[in-house]
Amino acid sequence: MKWIELKDIKKTYSGSPAVRELNLTIEEKQFVTLLGPSGCGKTTTLRIIAGLEEPDSGEIIVNGKIFFSREKGIYVPPEKRKLGLIFQSYALWPHMTVRKNISLALEQMRLPKDKIESIVKEVLNKVQLSEYIDRYPSELSGGQQQRVAVARMIAAKPSIFLMDEPLSNLDAMLRVDMRTELKRLHHELGSTTVYVTHDQVEALTLSDKIAVMDKGILKQVGTPEEIYKRPQDLFVARFVGSPRINCIEGNLATEGSGRYFKTGKIKIQIKNEAQSKMSTDSLIGTIRPEDIVVSKVEKPGWIKVNVFSVLPAGSETILSVKQDTINLSVKINGFTDIRMNESVWINIDPLKMNYYNKETGKLVFSYFS
Ligand code: ATP
Repeated sequence: MKWIELKDIKKTYSGSPAVRELNLTIEEKQFVTLLGPSGCGKTTTLRIIAGLEEPDSGEIIVNGKIFFSREKGIYVPPEKRKLGLIFQSYALWPHMTVRKNISLALEQMRLPKDKIESIVKEVLNKVQLSEYIDRYPSELSGGQQQRVAVARMIAAKPSIFLMDEPLSNLDAMLRVDMRTELKRLHHELGSTTVYVTHDQVEALTLSDKIAVMDKGILKQVGTPEEIYKRPQDLFVARFVGSPRINCIEGNLATEGSGRYFKTGKIKIQIKNEAQSKMSTDSLIGTIRPEDIVVSKVEKPGWIKVNVFSVLPAGSETILSVKQDTINLSVKINGFTDIRMNESVWINIDPLKMNYYNKETGKLVFSYFS
């Protein structure tokens, strides 16, 4: 069921567009992440949904109710939208205990005292902070403060959660723990959530759908798997994935009865179904680092490369390899006895390649559908 609909949303600040003709539909209970680099318009979009910014044009519909329509002259103010908001800074009241920070909004809603107390206990239990109920924010760690902010948001039972980089102030370990907690919480509460981040791992791990933005333009909306395996253009391909996807410039060539994507000594077969779709000769082929296999011994048809660097990181090792002017990243599991300056052989799985138009950067063909 359609829950949030953004139609042709435009927002300009002093003549420079922050959001350009954004169209996005979010289904009920979905966790949707707005992902993109700094300044791409994520926060502006979230603030527009919250009612903290007015778009120049377009329409916002939430659960069938128009929240904003420039054409119809409708604007529902933020306090009437029943949304829960969490920003980067936890914005807890420093002079109030955890209990008071959570109960304040409930008191303003004029709920009975015993009801408030039971809600406070229930939400603190959800974020596993029951024993901290009488502490002040300064007596809590960053992660605990952020959990209080989450508890405060869910206590008011908003119809939608809006979160803007809520984990960015936390250290790397806590961020990973909080991701697990947020995911679990979303599973339990089933609340429609719009989440802003520039961290692609966070987007991939948390979301049902990811909306990738660049310079105010919505580039692609898809499941994490679609975004990762079938990026619609080179911007999305390069933005998502670490280490970065390999981009190889090349041309189509026919040899015997076969058709190939070729560059220097690299030759990758184009399978039948792809051939008819490849209209342009000048292409960029992409391959994820984990889709390249390495061998220390020569194998027929594999490509000989020189190892430029070896970066072990515990669970994986990233090799940077060179073939003439072409640099490729290769990801292998665990540690390796491959050393710098060695020659090794790589195999690129032709069915894991995606092909993009070199001029437009748009996807021409992907085997993943
Ligand atoms: P970040 O990840 O750095 O927060 P973002 O993707 O959330 O970035 P926005 O904050 O939405 O980006 O900003 C989009 C563009 O609009 C940027 O160029 C920004 O400078 C501009 N902008 C945002 N808010 C205002 C404002 N109140 N006045 C003027 N320009 C603004």
